[in-house]
Amino acid sequence: MGEVGVVYLVGAGPGDPQLLTLRGLEVLKRAEVVVYDHLASPRLLAFAPPEAIRIAAGKSIGHKTMSQEAINAALAEHATLGRRVVRLKGGDPYVFGRGGEEAEHLHDLGIPFQVVPGVTSGLGATAYAGIAVTHRESASAVAFITGHDDPNNVGRLDWPALARFPGTLVIYMGVTRLRHLCETLIAGGRSADTPAAMVASGTLPNQKTVEATLATLPDQALAEKVGFPALLVVGDVVARRARLGWFESLPLFGQRVVVTRPVESADDSARRLESLGAEVLVAPTVEIRPTLDPRALDHAIDRLGSFDWLVFTSGNGVRHFLDRLLARGRDLRSLGSIQLAAIGPATAEALARYHLKADLVPDSFRSEALAEALRDRVQGRRVLLARADRGRTILLDELSQVAEVEQVAAYQNADAEAIPPEILQRIEAGSVDWITLTSSAIAERFHALLSTEARAKVGPTIRVATISPVTSATVAGLGWPVAAEATTYTWGGVVEAIQAAVLVGGIV
Ligand code: SAH
Repeated sequence: MGEVGVVYLVGAGPGDPQLLTLRGLEVLKRAEVVVYDHLASPRLLAFAPPEAIRIAAGKSIGHKTMSQEAINAALAEHATLGRRVVRLKGGDPYVFGRGGEEAEHLHDLGIPFQVVPGVTSGLGATAYAGIAVTHRESASAVAFITGHDDPNNVGRLDWPALARFPGTLVIYMGVTRLRHLCETLIAGGRSADTPAAMVASGTLPNQKTVEATLATLPDQALAEKVGFPALLVVGDVVARRARLGWFESLPLFGQRVVVTRPVESADDSARRLESLGAEVLVAPTVEIRPTLDPRALDHAIDRLGSFDWLVFTSGNGVRHFLDRLLARGRDLRSLGSIQLAAIGPATAEALARYHLKADLVPDSFRSEALAEALRDRVQGRRVLLARADRGRTILLDELSQVAEVEQVAAYQNADAEAIPPEILQRIEAGSVDWITLTSSAIAERFHALLSTEARAKVGPTIRVATISPVTSATVAGLGWPVAAEATTYTWGGVVEAIQAAVLVGGIV
């Protein structure tokens, strides 16, 4: 038997993946095994190495994937094999998460463990719902309470005492017993007028807060169909939501947006929407891959000195071209005095990451504008276009009239085989609000991947946002109306266009 491994009990936070701690991220990135709860954000799993073993421990409501004994056994088994195990738990591992039991079990077996605390939902979901759990004017104490009907717990809680507790009550696991809990607190002496709220799916894009009083909350929560997971919060602090609410007032809160960009840029694109409160569904329609046959690329790289201009039409082009150059044992000096052109700010920014400055970025970010801006400058010169293996040929066509132009595929644009089934289902059900299309190729491919049923939802139920008039024309050709079009032809422009459309829609 080799060296004993270690188990990290990591708090994943209440839902928003951004609420994981730096320490949590650090151990997750080095994990060999990840055992995760359903309340831990699935998005966090992407941070574990691709080869890490991923084990779903459950427990979604109704069915348990693994018993606590099986979870304990799995943690011990992998650690005994010398592996670094991350036990990823929703919220904080020690707040109603049975983390204490798991740690004791490991201790008894002599297996080393460490705890990485997380943002418990009682603090995270409440803060996102506009509830300050303590406040100098409203509450000098806060109690975290389980509302769960655990048979072993019966009789441990003194509910009359909790009813009289002079502070905020945050009750976990209370959805199914909401009415009983509210009645118990009133019977125990808490005023029926006490402000009370349910916060469901806190910190997530589908967060829902129902604010009422102890007397009215059960009916109201029922009427508004409060789902799982949810917290019950009782106390005067709840009434301060009018001034403290922020998350649900973000400009894109409640908007469900499909991002069709390639995986490489999907993350950044998603973050931008999420920071404005949107829910993002990533359905890449094309995949960016290194070229299958890099010989032509290598040949061009080896003759860089013979070109006057190097032209990039995407950040992907920049990355694949320069990474290949570095991989061939060269460095940036190979570029010598070559002039660099970028089609737009995102491409220029990709160059900047390699400490390179674009000599030319046209005002309007499209091939036509780039061709026009380059035309005079490249007269009689040698130009290298580093681009995808397919796409519009307008640059080559235009510039070839005045210069000696060579085109090389720096990367490959491969079609995605399908739209993730859960996203397709949501489109078919009409339970998304926006589809973003950022090029003609993406628009056509996305259209082709949809079912007839899903296609019919676009327009009447689901709105389309495009990056430019060129893409809009393609979309119109596919029979879809365009509800928002970027005025600046960048991803930022698309996001602004959606914001503007939502704002108008909100006022009407
Ligand atoms: N360890 C977790 C709690 C696990 S018990 C933590 O620290 O948050 C599960 C209960 O947590 C749920 O029944 C619900 O009451 C609460 N909960 C977890 N995530 C939540 C969220 N995003 N919004 C509201 N309540 C949440």
